[in-house]
Amino acid sequence: MQKLDRVNRILLCRDAARRLQALACTCGVEVGGFILGYIDGDSGVSMCYQLGCNVAEHPRIEFLVDPVTTLKVSELADEKGLEVIAVIHTHPSGHAVPSARDASGMAVWRVVWVIASCMGELRAWMLERGGPIREVEVVVEGRDCGPCIDGEVCHSNPCYHLAV
Ligand SMILES: [Zn+2]
Repeated sequence: MQKLDRVNRILLCRDAARRLQALACTCGVEVGGFILGYIDGDSGVSMCYQLGCNVAEHPRIEFLVDPVTTLKVSELADEKGLEVIAVIHTHPSGHAVPSARDASGMAVWRVVWVIASCMGELRAWMLERGGPIREVEVVVEGRDCGPCIDGEVCHSNPCYHLAV
């Protein structure tokens, strides 16, 4: 985790960025998930992404990734020697800046938070240890990395199956 403190940029694979941005506008609720990867210098390098179901009480304005997806992603990270380098989610309305709820979540998941808005924004943020939230540069790469888990972990999200 300490290496993450030095991250100034996240290299996001193309399919993860596209899917997140498409879902920000096509899904009426927030969609959330994770990116597995590794830290190289001051960059977070994505190796795969995984979306889950949003099981929050008010999914239009907040998100909570279902516990099965969260557990499986953590296990997979351990198996493959990767880290959860980012939490990803969408804002169907509003800008791609952390909400008050996001700020609370950032204190728990001290990784990069990537937010896609329906306004076409794709931005990333990180809570400094003992400090403010700072912006992290997003670089969308030309490569696709694909979902972390074959098949679908969560079937109840109405937007999970939307192809983009
Ligand atoms: Zn949010």
